[in-house]
Amino acid sequence: MKAETSEPIKERGARAAVMFAAQVTFDQVERRYGADYALKDISLDISPGEVVCLLGPSGCGKTTLLRIASGIEKPSGGRVLINDREVAGPNRFVPPEQRSVGLMFQDFALFPHLTLIENVAFGLKGLPREEARREAAAVMARVGLESFTNAYPHTLSGGQQQRVALARAIVPRPAVMLMDEPFSGLDVQLRDSMQEETLALLRETRATSLIVTHHPEEAMRLGDRIAVMRAGRIVQFGEAEDLYDHPADLFVARLFSEINEVKYEVSGGLIDTPVGQLPPPPGAKDGDTVVLCIRERDIVVNPVGQGLAGRVLHVRFLGDIDLLEIGVQGFDEPLRVRTPHYAKWAKGAEVGLTILPERVLVFPENGTDGP
Ligand code: ATP
Repeated sequence: MKAETSEPIKERGARAAVMFAAQVTFDQVERRYGADYALKDISLDISPGEVVCLLGPSGCGKTTLLRIASGIEKPSGGRVLINDREVAGPNRFVPPEQRSVGLMFQDFALFPHLTLIENVAFGLKGLPREEARREAAAVMARVGLESFTNAYPHTLSGGQQQRVALARAIVPRPAVMLMDEPFSGLDVQLRDSMQEETLALLRETRATSLIVTHHPEEAMRLGDRIAVMRAGRIVQFGEAEDLYDHPADLFVARLFSEINEVKYEVSGGLIDTPVGQLPPPPGAKDGDTVVLCIRERDIVVNPVGQGLAGRVLHVRFLGDIDLLEIGVQGFDEPLRVRTPHYAKWAKGAEVGLTILPERVLVFPENGTDGP
């Protein structure tokens, strides 16, 4: 891998890769299909070398945003800039091959009739053949596939195919890497190790990276920052811890934790709960319904007599943890509580519960519908 420089390397045919990390900016980007908006008012600033995950449910516009960044698709409005150079806008459109972007798809999209080294060298068509093969071989060695150069894609496992796809995307050393659900085809164990390897490789290349996922844990693991999307908009953009601790709304809270939701009415400027009197969310007035969110992992189960009185109604073994349903003094419905399995609370046990008011979230009831 060549060292990063602050200058573009000399253009050599189709390779033309810039070697400095790139700033990627979306400025009020929108994409309409007929009267429907797939994307609306998307503004994001992604720092050079940063890894950003686009997280959201199916149909919220993640892939469309990635396609617009790559140049496969044009925005209907707004601008995309790479290093302050407009690559898509009302009066300008730079095609994908001139943007120095690498693309990696969910299904890896390897060419079945080409050997692996030919697959990897495919992105280096502008280089002399021998040089392209040499570079491809070096990247294949980097991803641990040096002994598979002459194999064909169908002979590989899912994890190996993922490595080849990754090698093919990074071999031209793109300034920006765009990855659409790159791990969704892998089983859980393999996914863990491939996430680590991929992240290490992205850090080495210093490519600014946008990774689409609909798994919150994957986004937290990979992203320096996460852009949460819903219904074509960015709902919240920030670091994982910030999104977890201070979700912008109920939708984001639900994405990052398993929560108990209990409805209350604002009265006398407060919400009166068994946990204490809590301030309502900004803008909520007396008579409004709000949702109290208590994370299942934030409830501490103690011996009886310590904290709110409760009774274990149901215990479900989930491996490392037990999911308890506990009838709790002051709550109409049982609360779900996740405790370490070793704690061994039994059905029927009388317990005490600690719920810290500062760990409780309160949101307005409405405003979270749609994909
Ligand atoms: P998934 O996680 O399922 O891939 P996504 O978040 O990537 O979903 P997109 O594929 O970007 O979502 O789609 C966003 C919206 O745009 C969807 O409602 C989709 O139906 C619509 N859409 C995407 N491409 C087109 C198209 N070519 N014509 C019409 N509508 C489209």
